[in-house]
Amino acid sequence: MSVYTLPDLAYSPGALEPHYSGEIVALHHGKHHAAYVKGANDTLEALAAAREAGDFSTINMLSRSFAFHLSGHLLHSIFWTNMSPDGGGRPDGELAGAIDEFFGGFEPLQAQLTAATVNVQGIGWGVLAWEPLSSRLVVEQVYDHQGNVGVGAVPLLVIDSWEHAYYLQYKNVKADFVKAFWEIANWADVAARFEVARSVPSSV
Ligand code: MN
Repeated sequence: MSVYTLPDLAYSPGALEPHYSGEIVALHHGKHHAAYVKGANDTLEALAAAREAGDFSTINMLSRSFAFHLSGHLLHSIFWTNMSPDGGGRPDGELAGAIDEFFGGFEPLQAQLTAATVNVQGIGWGVLAWEPLSSRLVVEQVYDHQGNVGVGAVPLLVIDSWEHAYYLQYKNVKADFVKAFWEIANWADVAARFEVARSVPSSV
């Protein structure tokens, strides 16, 4: 039985065009994201087998594999819902107020998250997250799927900076991909995630 499953898209792959090509969305979701789901499930099985055998000689590799694939699954699941054919514009309501409070306005947030995403060295993500310890919004620059993050921060808005996310359409100009992302950003989804995240009290 699979613990993790690939979520369906809420739109057809071509629905985000011209900002995000249907070919990329179909491959990115059906191949790349699906591989992370499979990797997380396979690693859980390998860990169970290791326990059964009492053989933890591969624990370092399996631990990293689990973090990588689980985080990849989680980030992509958020990524798909963070985009919408009806997206774009800017946040409003309490999310907009929080962005003003913690970043000094929407433009400074957009500039910081764009810079964090475009300037990832190698592979990674730009992420707007809720940091529960201080009850504030933060921007993180994630390495791979799981590095360079504060433990416990909850991703709200994520932008994939891996080449597979944009290269077929935007080639080497990652900045144009991020610019296009803002045209399809689903602020209603980000606001809903914000409401849930900040309703959970910090555990420390
Ligand atoms: Mn990806």
